[in-house]
Amino acid sequence: MAKRVYLFNEGSKDDRELLGGKGANLCEMTSMGLPVPFGFIITTPTCREFFEGGNRLPRHLQTEYNVALKLIEDRMGSLFGDPDNPLLFSVRSGAPVSMPGMMNTILNLGMNDVIAAGLARKTGNPRFAYDSYRRFIQMFADVVLGIEGDGFEEAIIDYKKEHNKTLDTEMTAEDWQAIIEIYKGMVSFPQDPAVQLRQAIEAVFLSWNTPRAIFYREMNNIPDSIGTAVCVQAMVFGNFGDDSGSGVAFTRNPSTGDKQFFGEYLVNAAGEDVVAGIRTPQPISSLEQQMPAVYKELFATQKRLEEHYSDMQDIEFTIQQGKFYMLQTRSGKRTGRASVKIAVDMVNEGLISDKEALMRVSPEHVESFLHPMVDPSAKTDIVASGMPASPGGATGKVVFSADEAVTVAADGTKVLLVRRETTPEDIHGMKVAEGILTELGGMTSHAAVVARGMGVCAITGCAELTINYEQGTATTNDGVVIKRMDTITLDGATGDVMLGDIAKTAASDSDDFQKLLGWADKYRRLGVRANAETEEDATKARELGAEGIGLCRTEHMFFEADRIDHIRGMILSENREERQVYLDRLLEFQKADMKALFRVMHDLPVTVRLLDPPLHEFLPHGDEELEALAKRLGKPADKVREISQNLQEVNPMLGFRGCRISVIHPEITEMQVAAIIGAAVEAQRDGHNPYPEIMIPLVVNVREIRAITDVIEKVIMEVLAREKVSIPYKIGTMMETPRACLGAERLATAVEFMSFGTNDLTQMTYGFSRDDVGKFIAAYLDRKLVEDDPFVTLDQRAVGRLMKIAIEDSKKRKKGIKYGICGEHGGDPRSIQFCHDIGLDYVSCSPFRVPVARIAAAQANVGPSSSE
Ligand code: ADP
Ligand code: MG
Ligand code: MG
Repeated sequence: MAKRVYLFNEGSKDDRELLGGKGANLCEMTSMGLPVPFGFIITTPTCREFFEGGNRLPRHLQTEYNVALKLIEDRMGSLFGDPDNPLLFSVRSGAPVSMPGMMNTILNLGMNDVIAAGLARKTGNPRFAYDSYRRFIQMFADVVLGIEGDGFEEAIIDYKKEHNKTLDTEMTAEDWQAIIEIYKGMVSFPQDPAVQLRQAIEAVFLSWNTPRAIFYREMNNIPDSIGTAVCVQAMVFGNFGDDSGSGVAFTRNPSTGDKQFFGEYLVNAAGEDVVAGIRTPQPISSLEQQMPAVYKELFATQKRLEEHYSDMQDIEFTIQQGKFYMLQTRSGKRTGRASVKIAVDMVNEGLISDKEALMRVSPEHVESFLHPMVDPSAKTDIVASGMPASPGGATGKVVFSADEAVTVAADGTKVLLVRRETTPEDIHGMKVAEGILTELGGMTSHAAVVARGMGVCAITGCAELTINYEQGTATTNDGVVIKRMDTITLDGATGDVMLGDIAKTAASDSDDFQKLLGWADKYRRLGVRANAETEEDATKARELGAEGIGLCRTEHMFFEADRIDHIRGMILSENREERQVYLDRLLEFQKADMKALFRVMHDLPVTVRLLDPPLHEFLPHGDEELEALAKRLGKPADKVREISQNLQEVNPMLGFRGCRISVIHPEITEMQVAAIIGAAVEAQRDGHNPYPEIMIPLVVNVREIRAITDVIEKVIMEVLAREKVSIPYKIGTMMETPRACLGAERLATAVEFMSFGTNDLTQMTYGFSRDDVGKFIAAYLDRKLVEDDPFVTLDQRAVGRLMKIAIEDSKKRKKGIKYGICGEHGGDPRSIQFCHDIGLDYVSCSPFRVPVARIAAAQANVGPSSSE
């Protein structure tokens, strides 16, 4: 039968699975020869046995741990349950992964009335003995018997008031004895130490299934089956007197990452007092004066531990009568900045390799370098929360329309654009806003995508707000009214909306960060491109390391104020000649824009998507606006209204859009291709090496693609023949419909690249409209009907399966096709891992996510692959 009980000298740090994290590290420290109070660990499989046996400890467990207990008694020179020379234990839980929500530690287990008196006699320190006893009763009652701890604390507070005392250290032995008598009236607990121990072990196992623990496991995808270990350890006492104490410390500063030993301690206190914050602890530096020898040992120990684990450690220690003990070590939690600094410093110090350094930072941490963030410690007055659509923090005055944003921002006033939702018509307002807040929408609705593209903070789907444009108010569910020109703060990283101006930490660009990105580039296989249309975005993208443009959405170029009327004119044209006039003008705009992109990208590929949205998205909505437009175009208002009417669709997302526009209006495609290739020719003459890749959106089958590639190729041939030059180019498709993925084998014959447009592909696979998902996705997530928002993290099971099928089938027919992804998932770390695993060539994401994607792509290549 498998061994269930391990002594601290029988395991190592590699036994996490079996002994839990805490237990494995206690073993490791023991074998390093550090002063760890001796103890034993009951294994995690025993926890499973406990549940399988109907919440009962396995039959022989007690015999097994009694053997271990004897060995500890021998080593410590004291006996469990012996009043004259008592041995006391702490009982601690420890799962293989750190897990809040589990059982609290019980200290001083093994006490009763007789033993407390014995301990007082033996130590000659009755105050300490009775303080320890009352702590035991309190913890045992709370943790094992499930009696609320508040009553116990209140009893102490009342007692202190009555006796004019404030601090625990003023309490005498008699005071604590009186408290114990009060406790005994509140709770009855077993006096037999052996029974206490058995019940405490059971309580640790049972705490594996508290609702909090189950919830935490669900949130973090930790399997229920792994179970927890139990550590039973001889007690040492920080509450023995002024030559004793307890503390916690970090081997480096966990918020800045500076290489500087950092911590706090309390004199004459048990470790729980430091954590509970009932007294203000002293900085670790003053220990150097108070107990120089102990400090020296502590300092040497932390240094050794950090070198041994090659990572920043978070340690817990206790001092008993001038003697130093180690009670815990684990790798320390840290901020994003600290994680980057520590990883790079440790490579410089020769502690870890550059590959290991890459695995030490989370891609999310990288975000904190790119945007100013709301300072978490300054956060107050959260009045509503929505979806964290685009990270960063922003403060400004509230405006409710794009025009107003422009007017108010004109003199430099910072504004936040607050809308029910945004549309392409709001672009001018979004551009000047510090941040964007919408009541509706989701993580990939217009506001979210555009804001991420611009690197502007945004919160979408903030259903807790009701926006009233007429009154100029946004009212929260709790009745807080935010008025026009009120100052509020948005935290795009969490989705929180706060009143007033909340402090922020500045964006920074450190050498360490650049170094880390350099290592990422060395180790990644996936290419990283950016989604960008403007010269500004493309420049940003290159700066942040993009290796080309993976998606240039040409329609964005037409929404600019000086162009929109021309595309409207084109849409409202009644015959080819009329349309051609507008197309000729659009060609000039398009060509100029494309040339700017080719210039910025110099020799990197630029993937240009042909016109994609339904045409009516370009037309104004209101009647007045339509009339004004008719006047500007010199057309009868009735006619304009009629055409606009005809363009309305019941279901625009599935309507006349994407390459269907190219099929019906090849002249639009001809114009776009002439502009793209014409721009490339001019860029080449200016000394650049343009590489256009023309991408056809929303395709469903190969005949449709051929109908369009015929048009594209004819124009390219014409332009190149006329200009007498040659330009390398590619023609490919966006993979956005399930049919395209399932029929990829045939599509392969007509294309040179396939780029998965996973926003639409997700929308069409789920049948969830991405603009309406905000109405229900939060509830789906809450009730765990979906694991993740599929618009944020790629759904590997179904959407991912379609991608895999498309890749495998198309490869069967043709070698050398390049595969990419240009949906919002292209910037999501978990999705990037998947993209790497299924063999994509590149991901494309908004410029500001490029560094995140570089890190994630490297981690995907260096670390273990995703499970599915
Ligand atoms: P957590 O998992 O919450 O960190 P621990 O099991 O580390 O809980 O216990 C909390 C505190 O209890 C420790 O920081 C330490 O101060 C104290 N403690 C635990 N075991 C002992 C022991 N054997 N002797 C003295 N104090 C102990
Ligand atoms: Mg601890
Ligand atoms: Mg699409």
